[in-house]
Amino acid sequence: MFKVDFIIFGQGLAGTSLAHSLDFKNKSYIIIDNCSLETSSFAAAGIYHPISFKRLLLSWKSNLLIPFAENFYKKIELNLNSKFLKPHNLFRIFSSIEEQNNWLSKVADPIYKNYISESNKELNNNSINFPYDYGKVSSAGRLDVSKYILESRAYFLKNKSIRIENFEFQSIKRLSNGFNYKDISCNHLVFCEGQNYVKNPFFNYLPSKPSKGETIVIECDQFPELLINKGCFVYPLLKNNFLVGATYKHNDLSHKNTKEAREELISKLLNIGDFKFKIIQQKAGVRPTTYDRRPIVGNHPEINNMHILNGLGSKGVMFAPYFSDQLIANIYEGEQIDSEANVRRYSKKHFQELKNP
Ligand SMILES: Cc1cc2nc3c(=O)[nH]c(=O)nc-3n(C[C@H](O)[C@H](O)[C@H](O)COP(=O)(O)OP(=O)(O)OC[C@H]3O[C@@H](n4cnc5c(N)ncnc54)[C@H](O)[C@@H]3O)c2cc1C
Repeated sequence: MFKVDFIIFGQGLAGTSLAHSLDFKNKSYIIIDNCSLETSSFAAAGIYHPISFKRLLLSWKSNLLIPFAENFYKKIELNLNSKFLKPHNLFRIFSSIEEQNNWLSKVADPIYKNYISESNKELNNNSINFPYDYGKVSSAGRLDVSKYILESRAYFLKNKSIRIENFEFQSIKRLSNGFNYKDISCNHLVFCEGQNYVKNPFFNYLPSKPSKGETIVIECDQFPELLINKGCFVYPLLKNNFLVGATYKHNDLSHKNTKEAREELISKLLNIGDFKFKIIQQKAGVRPTTYDRRPIVGNHPEINNMHILNGLGSKGVMFAPYFSDQLIANIYEGEQIDSEANVRRYSKKHFQELKNP
């Protein structure tokens, strides 16, 4: 029998970040993943920023999550001798005079002062329309998620800490203080399987509100090399290539590209300005999203040492490092998992109903 501290099921953003966090604590692990390309992480645009634009508020815990995530990815860049994180300012083009006024009223507010500011002639591009002006957001950027996952996978393969296969739930055998899985014995299991948790016999009681997203890559020589947001975001990749996204749909959970999403993104792009462009790529994926838009983290309510790290929704880049670290601190130091993210927020209703049908 091969003995490790952890078996991690899934190597998307969640499983990858958890494995690196375990490395930081000198804990051993084996990852099981089938290396499918149809995952949320391979479709992710990778953008992070601290603002919820709809109501112009700081998004949940962003003051903690962003610095934590940036430090975390930078450490992994050093370990893997690679580059996948790029901090950027983000320019938000206002859609109305109300939005502009709201922004200006918050610029001086001490809570927002470190994150948003007024425009300063950064958008000197004739092709972009900004009749109501625009504002600047700092503490934003992009993680090249595919590169992060693939370079981490190469590292896990080199260390013989990943097995490329489908999960076999029936091979999980409970012991008094851990589990056997085939020829591996471990103290802890963590499920990081993205949207597939709805098929997991141990966690399929959890509610789920998956959300399909699509992005396109355009070739355009009129767009500035800036991260811009108005109805959609536009992010500069290579010279003259821009990533545009993303859509949100709850009624189609396939990983197939659709004409509807392509047309929606083109229309939003043309709302930013008058450009000529060519679409050169389209991607689709399903975000593992919850009703309350909070992650799902912690120990199974009835099975000791069986854990979940999921529900990263549309903020996987910000959530994965912080909640990986929190899960490990909970296991080894008894640190509380944030009550809004704790898997136990769902267990009272479900397990009481089972006991008192
Ligand atoms: C179009 C789109 C745009 C997005 N843009 C952003 C963005 O700009 N910023 C941001 O922060 N987030 C974004 N997201 C969200 C982000 O992608 C997710 O939060 C994150 O990728 C979820 O990671 P995960 O590890 O939980 O799931 P996944 O990436 O789905 O990973 C699950 C892993 O488990 C493996 N697996 C599952 N079942 C099995 C099985 N039975 N056997 C073996 N292996 C299995 C899969 O192969 C996969 O590797 C976007 C998502 C989409 C779809």
